[in-house]
Formats: sequence, structure tokens, C-alpha cells
Amino acid sequence: MVANDFARRTPLIAGNWKMNLDHLQAIAFVQKLAWNLKDAGHDFTSVEAAVFPPFTDLRSVQTLISADKLQLAFGAQDVSAQDSGAFTGEISGAFLAQLECTYVIIGHSERRTLHNETDEQVAAKVAAALKHNLVPIICVGETAADLELHGPSAVPVAQLRAALAGVSNAADLVVAYEPVWAIGSGQAATPEQAEQVAVQLRAVLLDTLGQDVAEKTRILYGGSVKSTNIAAYMREPNVDGALVGGASLDIAEFSSIVRFQKHVGR
Ligand code: PEP
Repeated sequence: MVANDFARRTPLIAGNWKMNLDHLQAIAFVQKLAWNLKDAGHDFTSVEAAVFPPFTDLRSVQTLISADKLQLAFGAQDVSAQDSGAFTGEISGAFLAQLECTYVIIGHSERRTLHNETDEQVAAKVAAALKHNLVPIICVGETAADLELHGPSAVPVAQLRAALAGVSNAADLVVAYEPVWAIGSGQAATPEQAEQVAVQLRAVLLDTLGQDVAEKTRILYGGSVKSTNIAAYMREPNVDGALVGGASLDIAEFSSIVRFQKHVGR
């Protein structure tokens, strides 16, 4: 197994806003979040914070972050597998790159369930993101039924293998383990459960993309993360951050999650 190396993997706390906050609300939110973190003396180099607003907010968020030189990263919640053309409603990775997005979330369980996204589509989107120099945050996770039928890691492992089908060895990517039963339910996985699956996911990275990628890739946990439970996940050697849904819409709460080192140490 690949040894954990905290020095190489900067923790990432990523806030998935889903379909919340319009572009005006986004400007106010990002400004306040940045002030809150700065006032609290947050060291942005020790824990990276990123926001994932709806597509229509991205230009406003980009302009604000760039004009005020805020140290927040940002990205989109989805990307098209296509570059351009007759694909009504789709957003190209080229457009996101033009907006200086660093990241893009791919294969979130809400995309997989509500929009019937398949493993093949997820793989095509991962390839598109990498083609446009966006860092994909590849979401994987089992449903409650999967958990009962196949145990905790079989489905996430299979989803990650499928998502990486077209990826070359030097890829810069992030993996988010999000058990579907834990998303928005208030019933988070235990840190031990998250670590157990993260170990298996890192083994997939080692097997498919080699030691360097397996060591440097950040694996996030997502599913009912709050300021009161983030510390326990971050103590696990293979968990390198969190993908946060509901709690990312509360500035004080999200800021507190980002500053987990202050309330726990690591
Ligand atoms: C999510 O939707 O990615 C998520 C983790 O949501 P929540 O934090 O609300 O469980």
C-alpha cells in the first residue's frame, strides 16, 4: 500500500453549492467567506478551500476572486464530455477553463441518479476535463442497497476503475468518496468506514496510474460533513479533505470546516 504523505497532499475542503445562490448572492457569499477566513488567520497554503457555484455564477465568482486576489479556488459542478457543437444545455470544459476554473465535480450521485449518468459518461467527462486542464473531482459511492449487497468498497472501487478508463498516468485528479446514503441525510459514515474505502480507492490509483499518482491524489470524504465531525475524518491517513454539500452554504460553518486544524490539530 502507498504510504500516506501529509506533506505532499494539501487538504482540500470543497463546497458544493448545488442549485443554490444566484450570481448576486454568490458575490456576497464569497466575499464574506474570504473575509471570515482571513480574519480568523487561515493559512490558505495549509488547507485549500474551494467553492462550486452553479454555472451562472462562475463569471461573477471568477471576477471577484481575481480582482480582490482572494485565495479561494473554484470550479463547476459538471462538464460536458463534448468540446462544442449541437449539445443544447451543455457546458464545455473549454468554457470552464476560460473562466479559470481549477476544478470540476464529475459523477456526483445526484447526476448519476437524477440524470442517469453512466460510468461511461463519467469516464468521458473525466477525459474532457483533463483535456482542458481542469482537475476532475471524481465522485464515487455506494447506495444503502449496494452497501447491504456488496459491502462498502465494491461499488466505489468499480466506479473509480470505470472513471479512469481513459486516463493517462500523469493525471492531476481528486477522488471524492461519497456514500449515497450519507449525502444530505445527517447520517455520516464513520471515519473508519471512510478510511477503509479510501484505502481501497488509493489501491485502484496505484494499480491503474502508478505510485506517483496514488501518492499525490487527494481522496475526499463527503456525506453530512460538519464542523463537529470533520476533525475525525482528517485524522485518517488516507482522507485528504471533504466534499461538503449542505454545510457549505453556511459561511461560519464552512469556514469552521476549512479551519479544522485550529480546532483539532492534525
Ligand atoms: C454532497 O452533495 O456532495 C454532499 C456531501 O452533501 P451533504 O454534505 O449535504 O451531505
